[in-house]
Amino acid sequence: MAEVKFFGGESIPLEMHKVRIVQKLALPPVERRLAAITEAGNNTFLLRNSDVFMDMLTDSGVNAMSDQQQAAMLVADDSYAGSATYTRLESKLQEIFGTPYFLPAHQGRACENILSQVLVSKGSVVPMNYHFTTTKAHITLNGGTVEELVADTGLEVVSVHPFKGNMDTGKLRDVIGLHGADKIAFVRMEAGTNLIGGQPFSLQNLVDIRKICDEHGLLLVLDASLLADNLHFIKQREADCRALGIREITRRIADQCDIIYFSARKLGCARGGGICIRSEELYRRMRGLVPLYEGFLTYGGMSVREMEALTVGLEETMDEEVINQGPQFIAYMVDELQKRDIPVITPAGGLGCHVNAMKFVDHIPQAEYPAGALASALYIAGGIRGMERGTLSEQREPDGREIFANMELVRLAMPRRVFTLSQVKYAIDRLEWLYANRRLIGGLAFTEEPEILRFFYGRLKPVSDWQEKLVAKFRADLGNSL
Ligand SMILES: *Cc1c(COP(=O)(O)O)cnc(C)c1O
Repeated sequence: MAEVKFFGGESIPLEMHKVRIVQKLALPPVERRLAAITEAGNNTFLLRNSDVFMDMLTDSGVNAMSDQQQAAMLVADDSYAGSATYTRLESKLQEIFGTPYFLPAHQGRACENILSQVLVSKGSVVPMNYHFTTTKAHITLNGGTVEELVADTGLEVVSVHPFKGNMDTGKLRDVIGLHGADKIAFVRMEAGTNLIGGQPFSLQNLVDIRKICDEHGLLLVLDASLLADNLHFIKQREADCRALGIREITRRIADQCDIIYFSARKLGCARGGGICIRSEELYRRMRGLVPLYEGFLTYGGMSVREMEALTVGLEETMDEEVINQGPQFIAYMVDELQKRDIPVITPAGGLGCHVNAMKFVDHIPQAEYPAGALASALYIAGGIRGMERGTLSEQREPDGREIFANMELVRLAMPRRVFTLSQVKYAIDRLEWLYANRRLIGGLAFTEEPEILRFFYGRLKPVSDWQEKLVAKFRADLGNSL
């Protein structure tokens, strides 16, 4: 927290909230953790929460709600049509983004379904800074293809570039020239670029993209799911925006866009989603799909309670002290890991801390899933559940050949305002111990491999008895510690 200096000189993030509801956590002993990860087929998705101490799998739908959000849930207006809850949410979005039209949806991917059905057709091309899994799936399902135009700096693991989510404007011009503007369904910018480490784009980049869109009559669509983090980084890192308030930066971003959609599982710390639209014509074209796939226009598959919480959550997103908590905890963790030479994606982004397994366990071949092995080892070492984002998350070629991922990452998500600093310190400590013992970590092999989305359901086994050795070393080093 830049504003609060510690007399002792220590630089740590200070929580600007207090805890009023708690959930008890269990930390099973290391022997039980080995048994649990074995039962889960070495797949962190298949662990039971009763065996997990720090759940760092995702930031989706697991962010802490404020007292104001919880209070608002009690005044939800549960009427099918004419709901006052809907009107409050619609007005809040109009106020924040300045977009006149709003369509509710049950979550982010539902917005992507509607957008893709209306705007994408066979042969369409959608240029974007980087894809998200569900976005790409909906675009390809409707016959389109995705062009990833993130600037080359975005893919450098270790970097000091402040805006690794920026789109390369030269590449955008090339893609438009190559396919012709009439083939481009829309240009998509993703705030807080999820799959490359929660990295932001700059306002200037968005303005530049808008200019190119205007030259060719193209729609600019913003995926605002991770907008809160991106707003924080623009305020912190973009010189021209330092004097602006979060509300003003938000409006300047929104002013560049024709359509803004979001997952409220992240933005607004609730559960749901929606599409904000500038043009009445586009609104009318999309509207028909909401009752078909989501629910009536006044709730779109969301519970009215969640909608009330979202309205308050959106207002709270305009508060710098609310949105800086996640990124500051992540920055603290990334800094501390770097001090210990533990390889992580830099600079720190939003969403979570991304450990570079390719380096951490550089002795494990990609065919033995280094990121999956590291995620399994970290669970054994500390009861910490992360998510493999590497070769395991890819799909085999139709002929069975393995596609090796560009990056082998273990993502440790930082749900917003959920963990305390001592818990984060614990995670750092267990990673430090694991790094000192990294040569003990071995690879994994599938015992059950589903054809699609294998990372969700697949089961694996260690290629040797490395996990027993890891447990024995834990006992030798840490005595009877949990
Ligand atoms: C999570 C996410 C989505 C999908 O949202 P869901 O609510 O999970 O369907 C889309 N885009 C981005 C950038 C996301 O982070």
